[in-house]
Amino acid sequence: MDRPLMNRVLVPLALNGAAPVLGAQVHGLDGQTMGTTWQVRWSTNHAAVSAERVKAGVQEELDRVVEQMSAWLPGSDLDRFNRASAGTQHTVPEAMAEVLQAACWLADVSGGAFNPAAGALVNLWGFGPSPRYTDPGFAPPTDEAVRHALARVDWRALRWDAANSQAHQPGGVLLDFSAIAKGYAVDRVSQRLSAMGLPHTLVDVGGELRGHGLRPGGQPWWVDLESPPVAQGQRPLPTTRVALHGLSVATSGDYRRVFVRDGARWPHTIDSRTGRPLANGLASVSVLHAECLWADAWSTALTVLGREEGVALASAHGIAALFVQRERDGQLTETLTPAMQELAE
Ligand code: AMP
Ligand code: MG
Repeated sequence: MDRPLMNRVLVPLALNGAAPVLGAQVHGLDGQTMGTTWQVRWSTNHAAVSAERVKAGVQEELDRVVEQMSAWLPGSDLDRFNRASAGTQHTVPEAMAEVLQAACWLADVSGGAFNPAAGALVNLWGFGPSPRYTDPGFAPPTDEAVRHALARVDWRALRWDAANSQAHQPGGVLLDFSAIAKGYAVDRVSQRLSAMGLPHTLVDVGGELRGHGLRPGGQPWWVDLESPPVAQGQRPLPTTRVALHGLSVATSGDYRRVFVRDGARWPHTIDSRTGRPLANGLASVSVLHAECLWADAWSTALTVLGREEGVALASAHGIAALFVQRERDGQLTETLTPAMQELAE
């Protein structure tokens, strides 16, 4: 007989921040950004900070990220960089520079598994602004087209100069921050709420979350990790419940935004070392980190690396990650890095 499913509970190793507020209530706002939804919740017992002020603050933070880093908004700083002539030098605005710095660091550390310059390949496989894999008649690229795009995805060619916030456009290199910008936006919104005098908050942009402080009654913000849908004949996985107390979580998965034809599956994550969508059997990777930018970027990097290399790199950097693998027999199995296990004990 199968054992009953145990659920897993993850709690941070330290408690910190403001004490719970007596008589507090949870307030909330939501909206749309970056082709997805956002949500903020905050717990307070006074109306000193109005919902209108919170909304304006959140909107300003989200708008800044979009105006600088959207590949979909014509005229964003990223779009202008992508369209710039070969051999031009660009001063990158502050928020974008922060993200590019983190992205180039992780690209170096992961040997290009994470690649902020993968736009040419992302577009080719239909996951950029256009063409879309959902367009009628969309066809996967030829080998030759892949070879051409592979010549345009070297992040080192950006010659990123952090001290002067300068990036070089060698010609045809397309930045794509979709694997990191949502996490960064979560951090910015979270910090903005804190600066407004709201220490008890939960922020969500498209399923990437960051929580601080406590809910009314002294409980942390509990969230369940996203997990891949369980197909017929697959044993379900335990639910993993996390106390988002000074903690962020992000999940990358192969089950959302995927092109399926003739039995082949192309997820939206591209291995820019081969030029092709991933086919390593990883169904999802969730990462917990103090900062959502890092949770978001690492979850993508580890997804590309695959279970074996991913667990090794995450362990070497003390990253708390949970890998869900589709095994050859069709079952889903979980692997936790040591830092993740520590949170579960
Ligand atoms: P995420 O859902 O955070 O894993 O981000 C996936 C998105 O990042 C994709 O839709 C692409 O726009 C982009 N992307 C795809 N492959 C990579 C990669 N190897 N490194 C960085 N970004 C990528
Ligand atoms: Mg990501």
